[in-house]
Amino acid sequence: MMKNTNNNDMFDYVIVGAGIVGSSIFSALARSGKSVCMIDKALDVGTGAAKANSGLVHAGFDAKPGTLKAKLNVLGNKMYPLEAKRLGLSIKKTGAYVVGNDKEKLEELLARGKTNGVDGLHLLSGSELKAKLPMLNPEIKYALFAENAYVISPYMFTICLAEEGIVNGGRVVLGFDAKRIKKHGDIFTISDGFDEIKTKYIINSSGAGYNEIANMIGSEIYELEFRRGEYFVLDSTEKNLVPSTVFPLPSKAGKGVLVTPTVDGNILVGPSSQLSDDITKTTAEGLSFVRSQASNMIPSINFKKTIRIFSGIRTVVGDDFVIEKSREMPNVINIAGICSPGLSAAPAIALYVLNLLGLDTKIPAAKKIKPYVALSSLPVSKKNELIARNPLYGKIVCKCEGISEGEIVDALSRPLRVVSVDGIKRRTRTGMGRCQGGFCLSKTIELIAKKNNITLFDVVKENKGSNIIVSGVKKS
Ligand SMILES: Cc1cc2nc3c(=O)[nH]c(=O)nc-3n(C[C@H](O)[C@H](O)[C@H](O)COP(=O)(O)OP(=O)(O)OC[C@H]3O[C@@H](n4cnc5c(N)ncnc54)[C@H](O)[C@@H]3O)c2cc1C
Repeated sequence: MMKNTNNNDMFDYVIVGAGIVGSSIFSALARSGKSVCMIDKALDVGTGAAKANSGLVHAGFDAKPGTLKAKLNVLGNKMYPLEAKRLGLSIKKTGAYVVGNDKEKLEELLARGKTNGVDGLHLLSGSELKAKLPMLNPEIKYALFAENAYVISPYMFTICLAEEGIVNGGRVVLGFDAKRIKKHGDIFTISDGFDEIKTKYIINSSGAGYNEIANMIGSEIYELEFRRGEYFVLDSTEKNLVPSTVFPLPSKAGKGVLVTPTVDGNILVGPSSQLSDDITKTTAEGLSFVRSQASNMIPSINFKKTIRIFSGIRTVVGDDFVIEKSREMPNVINIAGICSPGLSAAPAIALYVLNLLGLDTKIPAAKKIKPYVALSSLPVSKKNELIARNPLYGKIVCKCEGISEGEIVDALSRPLRVVSVDGIKRRTRTGMGRCQGGFCLSKTIELIAKKNNITLFDVVKENKGSNIIVSGVKKS
């Protein structure tokens, strides 16, 4: 697989792990004019926890006051609307309800939220609650409503932050699985067994891989716990099921099984919370737990409208995030245990890391990325204008989501190289609809191969070895 870097490149900062956390820090450093590179073992950014979560920007009432989780969630929540504007991405202020019959617990959450500095919290009951959530199980009597909760696309934020870092001078090296890290004098050399990257500072934001990287560096190791969360994605026909995110009361295992609209017009139901380090697995047990918990809150969920199931893995270290300068190894920042609300906190984590590095947290205005075109969301007049300029916008590849060849070619022509079908899926929504790629997969593979000047056999679904076409049926 080709690399987008040269051997022996030297940087001031290397970020290991291109999730939402790594990409937020990468963009912040690049926009601050620093020499920075972000590496990931995967062939795309955002293929770890960043692509498999609920996509919620939490208001911040759940985390224990005084923790990094509380502080960075609340700050991140305030930053997201501006981040979305800068990156040209959608963000929907749906608000969130925590529902239940334990009024005292809901009042505790309200008080906790106020202590954390969360505005726009309201306790609801009776006719007011019924008017807001008529689909709620009528046996549920109370809710805490948080006005300032949003839904976003976690992978599009990750991708656009990575692209933003690149247009501002940063480098992203994908398919680089850090296998060895050595320090000579003040310089670290990171190797994947083929290429080497040199740097003065390492920021270890490798999520579930944190301890492996820390081991190579000689920095702190933490007791990591992995909690898998499984989900159902419902067809867009169900989009009016709930107007906002609906949670049960949180427990020790997490925020519980929620039902939420997504920013792209589907409904998401999940996650479970099982101890496991198997990231991609979904289980009958996990899914049936999700189903029964969600149906207790909202009995009308039609699970026959499921178009996809998936899972993601939370990396947990005790009760809080770990974001600190290593005491064992100078010029290393440890970032571990970034479970929920890590997505919500990510922009604030980036500023926190700049501060740890002794850098200015006021990031100057920088180059912007070109916003992605989403043809299906445009009025007919605008669509026609685009088609007149480029007829490829008139050739629909993904019938379910109405995605054109022009949009796929655009996604393949951006600052970050895309070599996987799932990479195109995340950027354009090709294959995200009812048929899940049944009609558009072959054309997508063809476009990826053509743009990257590789053969159809070389195109992968996601990671190395996930090639889709493995042999020809006919000789010619
Ligand atoms: C089920 C679930 C639901 C969640 N819901 C929410 C939510 O609604 N709101 C919210 O705020 N938070 C939520 N979270 C938490 C949020 O998803 C995480 O906090 C966040 O995605 C963590 O991002 P990250 O960048 O730290 O990790 P990751 O996205 O996992 O990134 C780590 C990266 O490191 C790379 N890597 C690992 N080892 C190596 C190596 N040796 N060499 C190179 N690269 C390496 C990996 O490939 C990966 O891309 C949820 C999490 C889960 C699992």
